[in-house]
Formats: sequence, structure tokens, C-alpha cells
Amino acid sequence: MSDPILATHNLRKAFGALTATDDISIDLNEGEIHAIIGPNGAGKSTLIAQICGGLRPDSGSVHLLGRDVTSDSTQARAQAGLGRTFQISALAMEDTVLENAILGSLGASGRPWRFWQAALGDRTLRERAEAALERVGLSDLRDTRCGSLSHGQRRQLEVAVALTLEPKAFVMDEPMAGLGAEGSKLLTGFLDQLRTEAPILLVEHDMDAVLALADRISVLVYGKVIATGTVDEIRSSPEVRSAYLGE
Ligand code: ADP
Ligand code: MG
Repeated sequence: MSDPILATHNLRKAFGALTATDDISIDLNEGEIHAIIGPNGAGKSTLIAQICGGLRPDSGSVHLLGRDVTSDSTQARAQAGLGRTFQISALAMEDTVLENAILGSLGASGRPWRFWQAALGDRTLRERAEAALERVGLSDLRDTRCGSLSHGQRRQLEVAVALTLEPKAFVMDEPMAGLGAEGSKLLTGFLDQLRTEAPILLVEHDMDAVLALADRISVLVYGKVIATGTVDEIRSSPEVRSAYLGE
């Protein structure tokens, strides 16, 4: 077994008396989708924020491609290959799909915004953005304003923005949120293909999507991982049934 692409070791973060993540060690391997599930308040978003660099852990570490990135900024992690999509959309609704793909990649890489006008005319950036749109199937909509896209298309565009930085691993916090049945189905098929480009750590409430996609599932309850395993292992785990499903 080769080294994991992304790993956390004993991540701990407390907010006052509340331990939001308690000694979390998880990993993500080549080609896989590892889903993180758990009730509201379990610590999923806190975990993601520590992995992406928005929150400093009290202790523990984050490793990307075998390198300790715990003290790196969000932008440095993005540059090093950590692709992410947000629980709340970071797209500019007045701008076109192509403009978002160009500017979003700049933002994610930490380049100063004062260069944005020049960026729109930059051939390399434009070609990279167009290639990313092609890969997510949004080329035909490149001149459409982002505000006119469906929720599902916006999620695809967010992935395209992340793809412009050629990520080695993806981290996604509830990408299915706000999608209807049709949108979820489309995005599920899309993520299923995306995993061959880069593995995905997927926080998701939509259990249909999780069961369809996950190679492994980790169950988070009150800040602790109570079980990690395949779909079948998690379904039959007594710990999960009692703690999460209330049986
Ligand atoms: P989840 O994403 O699983 O719903 P969160 O990671 O958002 O859970 O939250 C875990 C716990 O930490 C919750 O009890 C939440 O209220 C608390 N929490 C999250 N962020 C903060 C913060 N910035 N300050 C204080 N408490 C927080
Ligand atoms: Mg959350």
C-alpha cells in the first residue's frame, strides 16, 4: 500500500470547554472517495477547516503528499495540491462562468486581486480555465452569467475552479447541499469520475450519494471518529448503530 495522499494525525481543536475535534486521524488514498458522516455539530466542518488551513489545530498535524503542511497557509496548501469546494459558494454571480474559472483560480492561489483585469486577458490562465471547464462539462456555458446557472452547475463550476490548480486531493464540505434529486444524481456521477483524477475527502449528509460513492466511510460523533470502514462494515457496525442511528 502506498502512502496516503492526505492524512491527519491526532487533530484536536477545542472551542472553550467544547472539544470539536478530538484526536482525529484519517487518511485519503489514491483513487478513493472517503466520506465523513455524522450528525450536526459532530465536528465535520471544523475538521475540514483544519485540513484546509482556515483553523489552526490545538495539536496534531496535517500531511499532504507526505509533507507536514500544518503551519502552511490556505493558499500554500492549495498551491501544494489541496483542492477544495466550499459549503457556501464563493462564486461571483455577476461574472461569467469563464471569468469565474479564471478569477477563482487566482483567488485560490492567493494572487492579489488587483491583477484581475490583466488575468482575464492572460492567455495561459484562460486556457487553463477553459480546459477545466471542458473537464467538468461546462464549456458550452462559458459565457453565461454564473447567477443563471442551476445549483448543480455551480457545484461543477466550483470543481472547475479547483481543477485549474491541478489538485492532488479534493476536500468537499457538503457539495450536495441545496441540490434537488436530479442535481444530486448528476453531481454523484461527476464525482465518481473525478476520483480518478484526485481522491476526494467528502463530508456529506446525502446518504444516497455517500452509499453510491464512498470506498470508505468514517463516522464522526461529538468530535471523535467512532468507526472507519467500507459501506458494509459501517452499516453492520454496532458502535455506529447505537451512537449514530440511535439503535
Ligand atoms: P458539523 O460540521 O459536523 O455540523 P462543526 O464542525 O460545524 O460541526 O461544529 C462542531 C462543534 O463546534 C459544534 O458544537 C459547533 O457549535 C462548535 N463550533 C464550531 N465552530 C465554532 C467556533 N468558531 N466557535 C465556537 N464553537 C464552534
Ligand atoms: Mg458542517
